[in-house]
Amino acid sequence: MRCIQLTGSDDRMDCRDMLDDPINLLPAKCPKCGFPDLDHVPQPYFLIKSRTMSPNELAKAENGNFFVRERVRQVLELLAPSQCSFFSTCYKGTTEETPWLLAVPNHQVITAKVDPSIPRCDTCGEPRSAHPGSQFSEWLFYPQASGGAGPGWTGQSEYEILKSSTWGSSEIAWDQWISRDLFMSVRLLHLLKKIKAKGFYEATCGKPASADKAESVWIREKIQTLEQHGISLHPTGTLSEEDAKWFQSYLKSHSRDVNSEDDIKSVEKRLKFKLPKSYLDFVTKVGPASFENIDAQEGFTVRILALGDLDLEGYRTGELDSDDEETNAVNGVMFADTEHGDCFCFDVQKSKKEFQVFLYKHEYNCFEPYAENFAACIKRFASGGIG
Ligand SMILES: [Zn+2]
Repeated sequence: MRCIQLTGSDDRMDCRDMLDDPINLLPAKCPKCGFPDLDHVPQPYFLIKSRTMSPNELAKAENGNFFVRERVRQVLELLAPSQCSFFSTCYKGTTEETPWLLAVPNHQVITAKVDPSIPRCDTCGEPRSAHPGSQFSEWLFYPQASGGAGPGWTGQSEYEILKSSTWGSSEIAWDQWISRDLFMSVRLLHLLKKIKAKGFYEATCGKPASADKAESVWIREKIQTLEQHGISLHPTGTLSEEDAKWFQSYLKSHSRDVNSEDDIKSVEKRLKFKLPKSYLDFVTKVGPASFENIDAQEGFTVRILALGDLDLEGYRTGELDSDDEETNAVNGVMFADTEHGDCFCFDVQKSKKEFQVFLYKHEYNCFEPYAENFAACIKRFASGGIG
């Protein structure tokens, strides 16, 4: 199948400021020149905390490896079984696990031959340097290198994911920087795009390869497979296509002239968070609203509050002092109340566009997850009332 080379952000989670300053060091393999053991996976594997906050689900790592969040790991284990080994990662200097896994491709490909005039170590045989631009004498894995136009670096492989065993370095010496390349099938990259798993794109100076007919068929089939296995087709913190569609048509049919004097900016300033777009669309187009007989419970009425009536303080992290650990982890902002004391809160999180919705049960002083986001919450409110 067709493969392309992958690229992603240069802000690597496993490097200090610069790409050539990795924080997880490799042991030397050669006693003479000290050439590193490139296939060694340091344990624990540390990441720089501030860089782990990205809402992406894919990122490049050192040495032709990469990082995934849990949803993408599930996708890869289902669609490319045994093609990667996964390792948990920790915040630098701690034993606390991050939400990212290090993925190490299990298959490697020789991509080039190094210029024979470059001096080599007489113990391990590795060249002193191997600059991909000027010191590779022959490319072996690049069937359609296009020189800037056309489909870019397309190769053929029997694997969905693989990395180069060939390493590249600066022109001077491998100890300045050293890297390996990461490759993925065109069809898998496009499937990941379809399910909005972000962070990777094709390394090309031309137009990225689009999926051909056979690849498109595979993508459609495999998306069904993911659905059958209960894997979400969109990242948490965003709207699914279905919810977004439903919500737009709801807004359209319930839109009225909202004379909203409330200043979104002033609420966001007090909150120090951006409010989800779905919520702002609702309060500016539909305004405060009530839903009755929620979840088919007679008399269970919910009122969506006006912007100015949001409770920005009472349900925030640490305010509830609950016995339930999960409750205490919720950073709640109350946007809807009921007549019996329970209420609905967003769990506000800086790195997310859409917030998960929790139901606060006052009798138990605890939060229960209610909906994945505001649109899904309104969908649940609106459908529960009938009957
Ligand atoms: Zn050596």
